[in-house]
Amino acid sequence: MTTQAATTQSEALFSRARAVTPGGVNSPVRAFKSVGGVPRFIASAQGAYLTDVDGHRYVDYVGSWGPMILGHNHPAVREAIAGALLTGTSFGAPSPREVELAELVTELTGAERVRFVNSGTEATMSALRLARGVTGRKFIVKFRGNYHGHADGLLVEAGSGLLTNAEGQLGAAAPSSAGVPEEYASLTLVSEYNDPAALDRLMAERGHEIAAVIFEPVVGNAGVLIPTPAFLAALHRVKDAGVVLIADEVMTGFRLSLNGATGLLGLQPDLRCWGKIIGGGLPVGAYGGRADLMDFVSPQGPVYQAGTLSGNPLAMAAGLATLKELQANPGLYTQLETYTGQLAEGLKDSARAAGLPLTVNHIGSMLTAFFIGAPDIRTYTQAAPSDTKAFAAWFQGLLGRGVYWAPSQFESIFISAAHTDTELNATLEAAQAAFQEVNS
Ligand code: PMP
Repeated sequence: MTTQAATTQSEALFSRARAVTPGGVNSPVRAFKSVGGVPRFIASAQGAYLTDVDGHRYVDYVGSWGPMILGHNHPAVREAIAGALLTGTSFGAPSPREVELAELVTELTGAERVRFVNSGTEATMSALRLARGVTGRKFIVKFRGNYHGHADGLLVEAGSGLLTNAEGQLGAAAPSSAGVPEEYASLTLVSEYNDPAALDRLMAERGHEIAAVIFEPVVGNAGVLIPTPAFLAALHRVKDAGVVLIADEVMTGFRLSLNGATGLLGLQPDLRCWGKIIGGGLPVGAYGGRADLMDFVSPQGPVYQAGTLSGNPLAMAAGLATLKELQANPGLYTQLETYTGQLAEGLKDSARAAGLPLTVNHIGSMLTAFFIGAPDIRTYTQAAPSDTKAFAAWFQGLLGRGVYWAPSQFESIFISAAHTDTELNATLEAAQAAFQEVNS
């Protein structure tokens, strides 16, 4: 595979973008801050591939950070959007596809009610307001390195771009963003992921004050972290104290199974949040769960939540087409898991051959290769000492060879249905050369 050097068009666009947009991007991790180099501006995407404005083609492992489970520009999704487009783009009134998608989501997930919003951030923010409205309690609990969008009270010891951009360090002090008043942050209590004893202790001391515990059922935003059965059991115990248990399935929903991590791991959350796949690549989020809780949401109940573009017909069409396609292809999840497992094994082999310590966490179609030798990585604290410089060099080695990996050590990559043996082999070949280069 030849290396791709010229980035003239991306550089020109990045320079124009920086003059008119903070940091030149509309979401921080896209800026390549932790890996260096110029972010590639994408001209088009098809199947498993991205093509940038300089004409380079990449095997894509970002998949728009999760939504593109069918691959880019899937014909069923494209046709559904095109069909919806002919009937108008927004009505500000209820329309049939919202009902259809809500029926499908409730059927697939067992949630009794669902409300559509426009992003994962809105979904988690609304679910927490609902939990506070239902319980009359103020405090919420989240876990170190988990990311639930950028609502004020959730930017406390948060994962994703906050890990990447804060000079690689997780701030011990809350909050993790400027502009979040300490008073807001003080209502968010933080516990360590995969530490059941810590959660039990917190609940024993303060359970009566806590409205909700929100968690990533498989973490993607500190790199992939897989929950232990003991931790999952502790999470479910919080319900005994009248706490609303919220599974943030924005990343895992419809990805780890048709019923997300909830289905795969046998969870019983009170509420769930969705995003990404549920919109098929258009902006959608949702929250849902038990009817007796969801019926507190306006106009049925006293917890206010609204959205001008919520239930947008194009977005509903894309989400419906995506979920129907997944429902019609039950073997797909095994296919994704097989690819991911082979990728993990190949990466481990070639890192070993290059003399580089590497720990690969993967589940379903999510994977992180941590540049650290560890028997088991289960918390952000364990992942944090990863060699981010080696990761950055490896990332650039991949990019130059036509593989677009997530541009941060502490993120998951996402495999799609369009990834085949051809892409797997090309990726492993590029990865092997890039590992050798890192250690040379
Ligand atoms: N929750 C989780 C688990 C996420 O991964 C994300 C986004 N990566 C969000 C919430 C926020 O979603 P959005 O970016 O659509 O606001």
